[in-house]
Amino acid sequence: MSRLIDDYIRSEDERARADQIDELAARFAERAARHDREGSFPFDNFADLREAGYLKLTVPKQYGGDGLSLYELVLLQERLACGDGSTALAVGWHIGQILHLRTSRKWPEPMFADLCRSVVKDGTMINTFASEAGTGSPSRGGKPETVAVPSEGGWRITGRKTFSTLSPILDRFVVTAYIPGEDCTGEFLVRRTDKVSLIETWDTLGMRATGSHDVVLDDVFVSEEMRITGKGEDDGGGWLLHIPACYMGIAVAARDYALSFARSYRPNTLEAPIASLPSVRHAIGEMEIELRTARSLLYASADRWDREKDARPSLKPVLGLAKYVATNNAIRVVDLAMRIVGGGSLSRHAPLERYYRDVRAGLHNPPMDNAVIQTLAGAALAETAL
Ligand SMILES: Cc1cc2nc3c(=O)[nH]c(=O)nc-3n(C[C@H](O)[C@H](O)[C@H](O)COP(=O)(O)OP(=O)(O)OC[C@H]3O[C@@H](n4cnc5c(N)ncnc54)[C@H](O)[C@@H]3O)c2cc1C
Repeated sequence: MSRLIDDYIRSEDERARADQIDELAARFAERAARHDREGSFPFDNFADLREAGYLKLTVPKQYGGDGLSLYELVLLQERLACGDGSTALAVGWHIGQILHLRTSRKWPEPMFADLCRSVVKDGTMINTFASEAGTGSPSRGGKPETVAVPSEGGWRITGRKTFSTLSPILDRFVVTAYIPGEDCTGEFLVRRTDKVSLIETWDTLGMRATGSHDVVLDDVFVSEEMRITGKGEDDGGGWLLHIPACYMGIAVAARDYALSFARSYRPNTLEAPIASLPSVRHAIGEMEIELRTARSLLYASADRWDREKDARPSLKPVLGLAKYVATNNAIRVVDLAMRIVGGGSLSRHAPLERYYRDVRAGLHNPPMDNAVIQTLAGAALAETAL
């Protein structure tokens, strides 16, 4: 009988990649508790990801990558998160943003080509540091307090970024900064120099091994061409589905743990394992409803985004809905899994309590619930106004 996680595999190729990622996920699962406890960045996992070619999955084929589709990205990210949510979320920003740059053509081509070649050759990774203490989530459109001012041949940037996932490992990253002379926000590709410092602030409830520390830029010089001026095409933000894929993966891992527990745990008051109890079977059925609903939405949206290239900007409500349902259902699945396992689910020697903490972070990744609800309301009103 096929496993739930395999439901959306469509081809031999996808099967082969999925098997490869399952091996990585199993290895990462063994290291996850330690990195979570220490809040340490999993450099070992990233060395393995690089070795396995994971970092170049979404790089266009013309630059030596695999040119993966969004659907395939979701498929692999979900499986990776079954092993370690932190690693999956962190690498998801990288492979997601490469996909985004590939489809939006937001960067000048030579700049993008240079990044891609470096990903393939050196295992370079990328992320965008947009969040700041004073602006709240950048998805709400706040003006950065980080400032970029013109300087001979380029720009000087000063400010402090929060939630900077992957910061311990990146040698370059994108920052958003306010440009006072133009009264607008710009994006800049910044190299790590001695003017950039990492302040190890990331000590959180969940996703503790994502290295999402603060990054301080102290009058950092970037040359003129490092300002990303291209507007590119609106791709609807499909790449952000790496986020719900991650939280679904954690939920699947929690469900599998609870199922295995329910099949094997037989207290001496019972003739059979607790999986025979109507109340436990009810909770299992509820987990299936949450998971199957969310996964069908997630994969259907990824597939639509891949196929309906011209309609991508209009898919925003659909993509937001997939994220909303996946992250909220994932929280419910982990909760149900813990109810099935009982008091043992609280043990720090079992993974459920980590899943419980990690899955909670999904609420604070974009798009946030209230934004999704507003987008859906706006789309509904616009449609009926026609
Ligand atoms: C694990 C993790 C990894 C992350 N990685 C990155 C990363 O790599 N790069 C990056 O840039 N960011 C990253 N983030 C940050 C993320 O994108 C958000 O900026 C951050 O979580 C803060 O969002 P918020 O909604 O809590 O903040 P706020 O926007 O400050 O919201 C806080 C509260 O105020 C309300 N609120 C505030 N303003 C408004 C408004 N205008 N309208 C309606 N409600 C409002 C919200 O509803 C919420 O209740 C990461 C976050 C997490 C949890």
